[in-house]
Amino acid sequence: MEASERTDASQLIDGRWDEGSESTPNLSPSDGREIGRIARGTADDVDRAVEVAQDRARGWRRLAAGERARILTDASALLAPRADEWAAVMASEMGKPIVEARAECLRAAAILRFFAEELHRPIGDHFLSDVGESWLFTRREAVGVVGLITPWNFPAAIPAWKLAPALAFGNAVILKLASDAPATGLFLVRALVEVGLPDGVLGVVLGPGGEIGGRLVSHEGVDAISFTGSDAVGHRLIERCAHHRKRVQAEMGGHNPAIVCADANLDLAIAALTAGGFAAAGQKCTSTRRVFVDAGRYEEVCERLARSAGALRVGDASDPRTQLGPLAGRGQFEEVLGAVEQAAGEGVVLAGGGRAEGTPAKGSFLDATILAELPRDSTFATKEVFGPALSIWPVESDEEAIAFANDSSYGLAASIFTGDLDRAKRFVEEVEVGLVHVNSQTAGAEVHLPFGGSKGSSYGPHEQGRAAIEFYTQDKTVYLDG
Ligand code: NAP
Repeated sequence: MEASERTDASQLIDGRWDEGSESTPNLSPSDGREIGRIARGTADDVDRAVEVAQDRARGWRRLAAGERARILTDASALLAPRADEWAAVMASEMGKPIVEARAECLRAAAILRFFAEELHRPIGDHFLSDVGESWLFTRREAVGVVGLITPWNFPAAIPAWKLAPALAFGNAVILKLASDAPATGLFLVRALVEVGLPDGVLGVVLGPGGEIGGRLVSHEGVDAISFTGSDAVGHRLIERCAHHRKRVQAEMGGHNPAIVCADANLDLAIAALTAGGFAAAGQKCTSTRRVFVDAGRYEEVCERLARSAGALRVGDASDPRTQLGPLAGRGQFEEVLGAVEQAAGEGVVLAGGGRAEGTPAKGSFLDATILAELPRDSTFATKEVFGPALSIWPVESDEEAIAFANDSSYGLAASIFTGDLDRAKRFVEEVEVGLVHVNSQTAGAEVHLPFGGSKGSSYGPHEQGRAAIEFYTQDKTVYLDG
């Protein structure tokens, strides 16, 4: 693939690439440079893509499962060796450090492989009849046309973990990629096209979320919506899907707590808190946001964590030595900087606290920031701030720590650091989240495990692994008599 193709982002409608009648610049967050143009689609483009998808859905669903699996397997095999090239696109358009970006691309390729293999595993159940010799069973069938709306923060893995099960189980798809990182998702789409995905089974429409996403949600030809993004957009979208009687799944924000107990291995905890808080510049839904530390070790943890955060190498995302890259866009940068500055006035800054010195003026770099002594009801302490910043508090007991951890409308991920198995078990049982880690960072997900939150973080069935069957298929109960 040529460089110009990789960063210019076109739509895909009925198997043809569509530049749209207008375009917007794709700007690098490392230095503000224009790295390509992004087609700006319209609600009419959604209508065209849905019409084609409706037409192709039956043929795709009836295609032998082995052929659908072949397409996913071949796309995976094509993408894995291109991980460097793919990661370079991600690093340049949304600023994820290249080493992390490459790992994400390989994970996306693995997700395609997992869902190809999923078609060899059992699907549906068989029952005995109470009254006769009927064969009783359930089939899980494709839902129809599925709209996928994805964020910019995992621009390869999230499109992959929605697209792969949607296609594997026989659905036609309309994909709306985030405006801040469309070229990365298109790299995956191109691979599927290259290995023979039939025209029109997958349509891609780009453009403003309100217009494109809004039309997907209201279109009567779209049977289901899978959304990942902010809770502000997600909660509105859930209501609108209910209004249109549409199946919906939404994975949203997190305000993820980590507890450091008196008996924690601090070498391990500090490394995990640093990675959890600042990898991907804190732009993971599962990034560590709130740290609760046993009061007896609070000073030591503050001091060591501040040192570890301050030592992170800030720089251009394409440099393999970079540990902390830019935020994904200018708007994102301004928003996080504003929240950090406000919090700095309310508490104490232990590390960072502003723009990273020595970085390009047009870049969106913030220092890794640690805030202490914040009021418990401050914005920063109660809301997800999507950047490289976390807050820290001392606690007197496990009860207090768990109560603080649960005192949130979010429920995505949580960690505890302890050497005590009973403590760990109690935490696993009592913490109100969908993803729990013992002695590891709040972020991190393996491709074959369910992924998703509880409370305000998540709505509908979880994603990834076997859990994906739930959303991308519907049950049919069969009574078969001879
Ligand atoms: P966002 O602003 O909500 O955007 C997500 C997607 O929704 C984008 O494609 C966006 O399009 C589209 N969109 C925007 N407004 C819409 C509307 N009115 N109707 C339908 N679609 C609309 O979120 P983001 O800033 O990209 O992503 C960061 C957020 O995602 C964070 O809150 C993070 O926690 C969350 N996240 C959650 C998970 C999880 O699994 N729980 C994983 C990753 C990220 P445009 O790009 O064109 O605006």
